[in-house]
Amino acid sequence: MPPSTGLVASPACDAVRDHVFELLDAELAGDAAASLRRHVAHCDACRARLAHEARFLAAVRRTAPIAVAPPALRARLRDELHRTSADDAATDPLAELPVRLTLA
Ligand SMILES: [Zn+2]
Repeated sequence: MPPSTGLVASPACDAVRDHVFELLDAELAGDAAASLRRHVAHCDACRARLAHEARFLAAVRRTAPIAVAPPALRARLRDELHRTSADDAATDPLAELPVRLTLA
C-alpha cells in the first residue's frame, strides 16, 4: 500500500477535476453541475483546485489580448478577405457554400 498523502480523491473529485473550467465559466448546467457544486462546498481539495484554476484564468484574462490590430490593418485584411472570396467565387465550385469570416 502506498504511503498516505492525506488526500483521498473520490469519483466526485475526479468529476470536478474533469469539469473544472466548465464550472468556473458556468458552462455546466443541470443536476450534474448542482451535484458537483454541492461536492465542492464540502471538499477542501476541490475548493482549493477551483480557487487555483480561477486565479490562473484571471491571470490569463488580465494578460490577453497581447496586441490588437489597428483599425487600418483590420480594414485592409477585411478588404483582402472580401477580394479573395470574390476571386474564389469565380473559380471555386464550392464557393457557393455559405462561409462567414469575422474580424474582431
Ligand atoms: Zn473533491
